[in-house]
Amino acid sequence: MINGTIVKGIGGFYYVKTEKGILECKARGLFRKDKILPMVGDRVCVEPKKNDATNIIKKIEERDNFLVRPPVANIDMAIIVFSITRPEPNLYLLDRFLTIIEQNDIHICICFNKVDIADENKKNDIISIYEKTGYPIICSSAKTGEGLKELKEILKDHTSIFSGPSGVGKSSLLNKMQSNLDLKTGEISSKSERGKHTTRHVELLELEFGGYVLDTPGFTSLEIKDVEEADLQYFFPEFIPHIDECKFNGCRHMQEPKCAIKEKVLSKDISESRYDSYLSILKEIQEQRRYKYD
Ligand code: GDP
Ligand code: ZN
Repeated sequence: MINGTIVKGIGGFYYVKTEKGILECKARGLFRKDKILPMVGDRVCVEPKKNDATNIIKKIEERDNFLVRPPVANIDMAIIVFSITRPEPNLYLLDRFLTIIEQNDIHICICFNKVDIADENKKNDIISIYEKTGYPIICSSAKTGEGLKELKEILKDHTSIFSGPSGVGKSSLLNKMQSNLDLKTGEISSKSERGKHTTRHVELLELEFGGYVLDTPGFTSLEIKDVEEADLQYFFPEFIPHIDECKFNGCRHMQEPKCAIKEKVLSKDISESRYDSYLSILKEIQEQRRYKYD
């Protein structure tokens, strides 16, 4: 048996990266019966082929996590890329990305790109909002190479996805770090790009400095689903140390008196824009509930 990781799946064949290189494999018949389909990112055991037979995936190791869209398992790092300008960053959108990734229990790094054309004050304003979250923050430029060393450090030895709105420079950053990835950037027309995406399969790309990155951005649907009202606060890491300091048990940090979170917003230890995002998402969850029980 050889251990490896599925890096690509096409038409019933799985491509497994092992110490002996990439092996083309089929899945053991039994998986289909159990309704377990191997996924890109799965750690598997392969029985190598004898004579003319194919390699067979015999065992799928338990998954740490998996995503449905794109279908991939065992992602352990999400790099959320936003540009400081062109396009202008929508911080509410950023907070939705962060919430959804927190829900999936994946490590987060925030990357603010296009610093080469950004206004210095604006950059500092945005950083001051997010440094209170405790997430690692990288300021980068795919044009000048600034921040790429730090990005590589984060990517190294992780299986990562790059997420964020289109046009912020995700493909440009990846291409700049490793030219043979050859990801398509914004230069091509959006029409041909859309056509391409419909026929695409997902693939983990191996990074020459260690680690894998998914070739397609994750979390493009920013729908908040299956989040309990009481759990949302834990997806805002800068809230967590203060949650127990609220006067009321089960405080939602809305209108309640003696709310520690609101006090921290007033003292600017928690950013107002983050708190506003929390409230908006909380209201959305409450609306969903109402709809469900009416
Ligand atoms: P993606 O949709 O997030 O993958 O974004 P792309 O990598 O396709 O980049 C979108 C556009 O922004 C392209 O025209 C890039 O040349 C440009 N771009 C990407 N990164 C930078 C950067 O750091 N600075 C500047 N000035 N332009 C960038
Ligand atoms: Zn509170």
